[in-house]
Amino acid sequence: MPVKLPLNINQIKGFLAEDEGQALADYASETALIGPALEVGSYCGKSTVYIGTACQQAGNILYAVDHHRGSEEHQLGEEYHDPDLFDVGVQKMNSFREFRITMAKANLEDTVIPIVAPSGLAAKRWATPLGMVFIDGGHSIEAALTDYRSWAGHIATGGILAIHDIFPDPKDGGQAPYDIYKLALASGLFEQLDRVNTLGLFRRR
Ligand code: SAH
Ligand code: MG
Repeated sequence: MPVKLPLNINQIKGFLAEDEGQALADYASETALIGPALEVGSYCGKSTVYIGTACQQAGNILYAVDHHRGSEEHQLGEEYHDPDLFDVGVQKMNSFREFRITMAKANLEDTVIPIVAPSGLAAKRWATPLGMVFIDGGHSIEAALTDYRSWAGHIATGGILAIHDIFPDPKDGGQAPYDIYKLALASGLFEQLDRVNTLGLFRRR
């Protein structure tokens, strides 16, 4: 059964299709007893609402990691720049303000723990086994590799690794997420699950 969201998700700025969001929510519900969920790349909170709502219903928590300074494509002058999210004072992107508004609207402040930091820094002394990890951060190969290396090893047995923006054909999009998808496959640590739209999915053996 699709998770019932606390708000109209189309009002939230972001980059996630409905079928992908519902799949994330389903897997978050299913893995809630294994451990907390963690996402890298929250932006204005769209994926956070899907995963967070499922976590809330199950009494679980969601760590939402994002430095909120935007990925390469969100910077001033780039294709996905949004002037509403540009902090003129410091001349930097800042999606955290909007993210907090979304969390309040969605009633998720009792479930979502924002970690406003680069993914690699947040992972530095991480020791908690995770039930689900969703990687949707930067699309440079450095950023994607850091995310994979930082978090994949913390997924507990039976837990889920989800990677967004999987485009096997380079004509359809950047290859860094697909590169780490292939790393996960080659690692032998994960069972490959059916993809949902551009969402790659694995279960930790
Ligand atoms: N999941 C979101 C979209 C994420 S967009 C949705 O559902 O709409 C990618 C996000 O990753 C941006 O907000 C950007 O700030 C963040 N990001 C990029 N590189 C990062 C890094 N190294 N550490 C933490 N966050 C990063
Ligand atoms: Mg994405």
